[in-house]
Amino acid sequence: MSHRDREVRDKDEIFDLVILGGGPAGLTAGLYGGRARLNTILLEGAAVGGQMTTTDEIDNYPGFPKGITGAQLTQLMEEQARAFECKIISEMATEVFAGGETKTVKTVQNEYRGRALILCPGTEYRKLGIPGEEEFTGRGVSYCATCDAAFFKNSKIVVVGGGDSALTEALFLRRFAREITIIHRRDSLRAERIYQEKAFAEPKINFLWDTVVEEICGNQTVEKVRVRNVKTRKVREFSTEGVFMFVGVVPKTAFLKDVVELDQWGYIVTDNSCRTSIKGVFAAGDARKSFLKQIATAVGDGATAAFAAEKYLEERQG
Ligand code: NAP
Repeated sequence: MSHRDREVRDKDEIFDLVILGGGPAGLTAGLYGGRARLNTILLEGAAVGGQMTTTDEIDNYPGFPKGITGAQLTQLMEEQARAFECKIISEMATEVFAGGETKTVKTVQNEYRGRALILCPGTEYRKLGIPGEEEFTGRGVSYCATCDAAFFKNSKIVVVGGGDSALTEALFLRRFAREITIIHRRDSLRAERIYQEKAFAEPKINFLWDTVVEEICGNQTVEKVRVRNVKTRKVREFSTEGVFMFVGVVPKTAFLKDVVELDQWGYIVTDNSCRTSIKGVFAAGDARKSFLKQIATAVGDGATAAFAAEKYLEERQG
C-alpha cells in the first residue's frame, strides 16, 4: 500500500463520491466529480484504464486524428482525473452495500464509504467453454492480443469471433503471426465495415466461415483445434499454434446482483441520467445496459453519472 493509500484509509472519512472501476467511464466520472469539488475516490482492482489499456490502436476516439494507443490514452485520462484531485486507489471491490444513505464498498483490504456511488465495473471477454480452453489458457489460448502477441512471432494462429474485437485484434496480430485464420460461426461479420475492409485486404488474414470450434487440442501447448462446419456438419482438425478468443463480453457485475437491478445478461439497468434502481447509486460504461459500447460512449456515461450524482447530493443538502 502506497503512502497516498494509507493517508486515505487512516482518515476513515465519508467521501462525497465513490467510483468503482477505473476504465474510461470511471476516470471521466472522477474528473467530473473532482471538478465539481466533490471529495472523490476511485477504486480500481486491476490496471487503471480497463480494457482500453490492452487496445493497441484507438482510431475512433475524437481528438486524435492519427490514432492513439490505449496505454497513452489511459495515462492522459488518469493524469487529468488526478489533476482535479480525484484520489485513485489500487484495490479490488468485493462487496457493495448501497441501500442506506451511506454507500459502502468493501475491498480486499479496506472499506470505503460515500454519499453517492458510481458503478463502472466494465466487462471481460467471454469464454467459449469448450474442452481444452481452460487447460491451454496461457499455453496457446489467449484473450488479449496486445499481452500475448509477441509469443506468436511467425506462428500460424486462429482468432475466434466475428465482431469488432476479433477483427481489430487480428489486425494487430498480423504484425507478429505468419498466418491468421478468423473462424466465425456465420458467413457474414458483425464487425464495423471499416475493420472488415482492412481484414479482407490483409494477405495474412483468411477466414473459415460457418464454422465453430469444438475442442482445443495439444500436448504441452496448442497444436490444433477441432472445428465443425455448421452448414455441412462436417468435423475436421485444423492445425494452429495459438487460439485467440473474441466471442463477446460479459459484464463484471456478479457481485452486484443483490445491489442494483441487472438485466437478464447482467448489465446494470439505468435511466437516461445513469441512475440505477437504488437512490444515490449510478452506473456508467460497458457494464451499463446501453446501445453502444465504445470509449466515446463510456466517457459520456462517466460525465452524465457524475453530474447526476452531483445533483443528487445537492438535493440531499437542501
Ligand atoms: P461482439 O460484438 O458481441 O461480437 C462477438 C462475436 O463472437 C460475434 O461475431 C459472435 O457471432 C461471436 N460469438 C459469440 N458467441 C459465440 C459462440 N458461442 N461461438 C462462436 N462465436 C460466437 O463482441 P466484441 O467483438 O468483443 O465487442 C464487444 C463490444 O465492444 C461491442 O459493442 C463492440 O462494438 C465494442 N468494441 C469496439 C471496438 C472499436 O470500436 N474499435 C473494438 C472492440 C470492441 P455472431 O456475429 O454470429 O453473433
